[in-house]
Amino acid sequence: MSDCLFCKIVAGDIPAELVHEDARVVAFRDINPQAPTHVLIIPREHIPTINDLDAAHEPLVGALFSVAKKIAGDEGLSDDGYRVVMNCNEGAGQSVFHIHLHLLGGRPLHWPPG
Ligand code: AMP
Repeated sequence: MSDCLFCKIVAGDIPAELVHEDARVVAFRDINPQAPTHVLIIPREHIPTINDLDAAHEPLVGALFSVAKKIAGDEGLSDDGYRVVMNCNEGAGQSVFHIHLHLLGGRPLHWPPG
């Protein structure tokens, strides 16, 4: 998608601090971090929201979580804990319409998130 911010990051047209990339998934640090670790984990494929997922995407969604687990380990978060969240649509706070997992950690995380 030519007008998608995260597609432009995947393409290398907009700079980002990458922490992981493979054939299906790219991860980079959030530009406005909400915790000491705040990484966004995205598919290379442009999928606007969770509502656009179908059964064929199940391995890809699993890959997003596998990358989240790996980065959490790399960042030293595995034992203390971390949060992985994906917002769906504006009412839940989604502002970039290319699905992404937020990986947050490095400080106490309260519940409910608000
Ligand atoms: P959401 O509100 O769930 O759609 O999350 C979008 C996230 O993208 C926000 O946390 C933003 O801070 C982050 N963001 C926006 N632009 C960039 C960018 N150029 N590089 C890295 N993160 C970004």
